[in-house]
Amino acid sequence: MLIQACNQVCIVGAGPAGMVLSILLARQGIPVNLLEAQADFNREFRGDTLHASSLEILDELDYAEPVLRLCHARINKFRLSGISNRITLADFSLLESSFPFVALIPQEKFLTFLSGEADKLPSFRRIMNATAHQLIIKNDRVCGVAYMKDGAMHEVHACLTVGADGRGSGIREKAQIKLIKTTPPMDVIWFKLPKEHDPRTENATGGRFGIGTMLAMLDRDHEWQLGFVIMKGSYKTLREKGMPAFHDELLKLAPELKASLQYLQDWSQCSILSVVTGRAQHWYKPGLLLIGDAAHVMSPVGGVGINYAIHDAVAVANILTGPLLAGDIKESDLAAVQKRREPSIRFIQTVQSIMQKLIISSALRSGRPFNPPVLLRLLSRFTTFQRKMAYLLAYGLRPEALKYR
Ligand SMILES: Cc1cc2nc3c(=O)[nH]c(=O)nc-3n(C[C@H](O)[C@H](O)[C@H](O)COP(=O)(O)OP(=O)(O)OC[C@H]3O[C@@H](n4cnc5c(N)ncnc54)[C@H](O)[C@@H]3O)c2cc1C
Repeated sequence: MLIQACNQVCIVGAGPAGMVLSILLARQGIPVNLLEAQADFNREFRGDTLHASSLEILDELDYAEPVLRLCHARINKFRLSGISNRITLADFSLLESSFPFVALIPQEKFLTFLSGEADKLPSFRRIMNATAHQLIIKNDRVCGVAYMKDGAMHEVHACLTVGADGRGSGIREKAQIKLIKTTPPMDVIWFKLPKEHDPRTENATGGRFGIGTMLAMLDRDHEWQLGFVIMKGSYKTLREKGMPAFHDELLKLAPELKASLQYLQDWSQCSILSVVTGRAQHWYKPGLLLIGDAAHVMSPVGGVGINYAIHDAVAVANILTGPLLAGDIKESDLAAVQKRREPSIRFIQTVQSIMQKLIISSALRSGRPFNPPVLLRLLSRFTTFQRKMAYLLAYGLRPEALKYR
């Protein structure tokens, strides 16, 4: 099947980056085909945090109110709990925003909502269960993709192809764009547990530190999403100690999990996530652009990846809507996107890397009860510091604002 195209855009990947970009372009009447490999948005390894800057963008699109109805918790503070210390790293309630908090919204619900809004736009077409396999290249220019659906190959031709296909981007690989990888010293054991309603466990999202251990807890109202952080390569040793020993470790960090832990009986309920971060050397080639995790693989630290994906989409729409409407996309337009977004990405990845080294890695290496570094403990006593950290996580170096609605 051949879809005829002229000023068409083909976006690969319906994560936050691809979904938001589809909406922004289709709202301007630009024809968009969005390909998504999965049949739905129910994906396991996704975070839930939407920061003020993204909520402000959604508000400008009149989506903030319905999106916040999907929200099951609002985090006001990011806290680090050591054995004898609890510090507030960032206080979002101090932000001058209509949304002075971090909204916890399951990505499945968030993306399902956005796809419903996108489906209302006449120039938008969503193709699920469609896995992009090849780039279509003519005269050294990417002109679309070949994708597999229902056992057959199809083609979408486009004047701009956007790789928004996440951390393991096949589009990046097919385009032979190199990812400069950095490997944080940690892996994460990722698993869910049912959560009973108990006032003591409300709003328990945060990080807990023990002796050489760390647990990230996401309170998803009726369930816990838990990330037990370990030194890279130490999963085998943990498994050899057995499930009861793992329960003991978890209970030391979070005694309130006692009732829920009866549902964790087998290692097959856990996934081991190798945390990798990195940046693509070039985000573009003639006719092709990478955004979101495809262009910069984000660490889960600080829960900012979704927000940077959304901000990429806004920058692309701001820079490329004009050229797309004129049917004249140049390589320099694509270069302008990388130029605009790369400093913000470099900045936040540096902040994440410092946090990984200073806090997480030193906590995991230490054989003693971990407490946050003295300087951090001192600084965290000042509300100015808590506000600055909240601003940094919520807005980063250079937040994007919509030019087109
Ligand atoms: C364990 C973990 C926890 C995290 N927690 C948080 C958090 O709490 N908050 C936060 O902000 N960030 C978090 N992040 C980071 C965040 O999930 C990512 O930064 C964000 O999802 C990137 O969005 P994206 O749209 O670029 O890519 P993705 O969300 O990865 O979406 C890519 C999409 O492309 C599709 N796709 C892939 N290949 C193809 C193909 N060939 N054809 C068609 N479709 C394809 C995929 O199915 C997927 O739907 C976490 C990451 C990890 C690993």
